[in-house]
Amino acid sequence: MAKDLLRQTRDYFKAQGIPEVDASILLEHLLKCTRTEVQLKLLRMSDDDVNELDRELRRLVLRRQNGEPVQYITGSAPFRYLEYQVGPGVLIPRPETESLVALVLEEIDRRSPAKSKVVDLGSGSGCIAIAIASERSGTEVTAVENSLEANHWLAKNVAALAPRVRLVAGGVVDACRGERFEIVVANPPYIPSGENLPAEVRKEPASALFGGDSTGMAAPVQFIAAAERLLVSGGFLALEHHESQAAAISKVLGPKFGEVNLVKDLTGRPRFTTARKR
Ligand code: GLN
Repeated sequence: MAKDLLRQTRDYFKAQGIPEVDASILLEHLLKCTRTEVQLKLLRMSDDDVNELDRELRRLVLRRQNGEPVQYITGSAPFRYLEYQVGPGVLIPRPETESLVALVLEEIDRRSPAKSKVVDLGSGSGCIAIAIASERSGTEVTAVENSLEANHWLAKNVAALAPRVRLVAGGVVDACRGERFEIVVANPPYIPSGENLPAEVRKEPASALFGGDSTGMAAPVQFIAAAERLLVSGGFLALEHHESQAAAISKVLGPKFGEVNLVKDLTGRPRFTTARKR
C-alpha cells in the first residue's frame, strides 16, 4: 500500500483541486530523483523507509494544501534549460515567459551576440537574463531588480548559473543612467488590481504581480519609458503583458517606436509585444 504513495497523493490533490503533477514534483524532491525514477525508487525501498517518506510527504502536502506554491516548497523552478532557486519574495518563472526569451534570441541572432547588449528590467529570479546569457554566450547581459528579497534570489541564481550577468540593484526609472543597450526585455508586473488570483499565486510578491492600477498598466508604462531611455536608435524591445493590454501597450509605444508586433502565447492569447525604437 505504501508503494502507492504517488498514486494516493495524486488522487488526493485531484480531489482538492490541486494539480496532480505537484504530487510527482514533491516526491521527486524528497527522493532527489527524476520523475521516471520515482516509482522504481519506491518499489526498492524498505517498508520503514517508505513510512518515513510518507511522514515527510504529508508535511509537504499540508503546506501545498495551505496554498504554498509547489516551487516555494521544493525551492526550485525550471525555466527553459535550467533550474532556478526560488522562494518567498520572488516571482516563480512561468512557462509562457520562455516565449519572450525566444523573441529576444531571434533578435540577437539577427544582430550577432557581440553586437547585442541586453538589459532585463525587473529581473526577479533572473530567469530571462540568465537564459539569454547561457543560450547566447557572446552576449553582454545586465539584470536590473529593485526588490531586496528578489535580489537575494537573483544573486544566487546568477552565481550558480551565469556569473557573467551583471547585477544592478535599483528601480527601472533611473537604472543604468547614461548607458545604452541594443535590446531591452521585461516581464513587468502587469496584473490589473481587481483580478482574482488562485491561492498559490497570492503567495508571490504583490509588487511582482500587480501593475499598480485597475488596468495593470501603471508599471508597464514606466518600463516602456525606461526602454525608450535605454535603447539605441533601432534598438529592440520585447515586453510580456496581460492579454487585455495589447492595444494599450501599442498606444503607449506611440510615435517613439515602430515595427510594433503583437505575439501570441502557446494558447493563442496576445501576451507579448515587440517593437523597435525609432
Ligand atoms: N523577470 C522575472 C520573470 O519573468 C520577474 C518578473 C516579475 O517579477 N514581474 O520571472
